[in-house]
Amino acid sequence: MALMALASLAVIPAAGQDLLANQAPIDRKMKAVDSIQLQKLLEAEEVDNPAANLYQDWNNVYAHRATALPDSLRINLRDFCMPTDSRVITSNFGARWGRQHKGLDIKVYIGDTIRAAFSGKIRIVRYEPKGYGNYVVIRHPNGLETIYGHMSKHLVSENQEVRAGDPIGLGGNTGRSTGSHLHFETRLCGVALNPALMFDFRNQDVVGDSYMFRKSTYTQESAQATRLRGVPGSNPGTDRLDIASNSGNDKSSSKQSKRQKKQKDSRFHKVSKGETLSAIARKHGTSVKALCAKNGIKQNATLRLGQIIKY
Ligand SMILES: [Zn+2]
Repeated sequence: MALMALASLAVIPAAGQDLLANQAPIDRKMKAVDSIQLQKLLEAEEVDNPAANLYQDWNNVYAHRATALPDSLRINLRDFCMPTDSRVITSNFGARWGRQHKGLDIKVYIGDTIRAAFSGKIRIVRYEPKGYGNYVVIRHPNGLETIYGHMSKHLVSENQEVRAGDPIGLGGNTGRSTGSHLHFETRLCGVALNPALMFDFRNQDVVGDSYMFRKSTYTQESAQATRLRGVPGSNPGTDRLDIASNSGNDKSSSKQSKRQKKQKDSRFHKVSKGETLSAIARKHGTSVKALCAKNGIKQNATLRLGQIIKY
């Protein structure tokens, strides 16, 4: 009998292994479960922390430098905090005065608290007098980097870890800014995405648990987001993914520097209550005629409150 049993075991080894598995000590079974659980955890973490794969380096040299975008990426928007409780957008993302506005402008007052939109690590804290003014760049595990510009004061330092909602600065009017406001950018691999695709400032909320970024549909969706959540009645913008900006192509970079020079030559004035063209001309040492030519308006044009005039 015993011999028969042995023989059958030898013939059907699979059954024998099952038998062994059933008799395996309980702690070995637990280990197997643990490793599956651990694997799941690791996978989940990878989903929650695509930043680890999207960005190769960590330094404060560039506020942003466009690199290759993934074809698609689900960006986790849970555990967000609105950067400001202001619901007033003053300028949309996209085409503005013949150049691209890479963020959303939100009305804030000097001293208003500006908060981290998600948890993350502060990459840059800097003052740029001709651009962002006092600004902060945060890298988030969800793959985004957020930029907060024109602040009056920084409240964080580089390499500091922050939680969503932590105060990072105070509202201001520093840098190239007319009137106190927050310039807020959401970037993926250095490429500016329309924040209105993710943030709804008027309703102080995000648009959903996540935003599915797809290269192929981005432009359309961005224009749609501006129509839904931007400054009402304004141009939805022809914002495009400006990925080629660091191509290093000589022709394009000389074109770019020309454009930058042109930008430098133009400054902007926001019309305040009761202001006339001649008052604005006087203020900036130019003439009404020159203002009209630069802005494509007539000398008797009615100025709107908050209208932007190039000079
Ligand atoms: Zn702006």
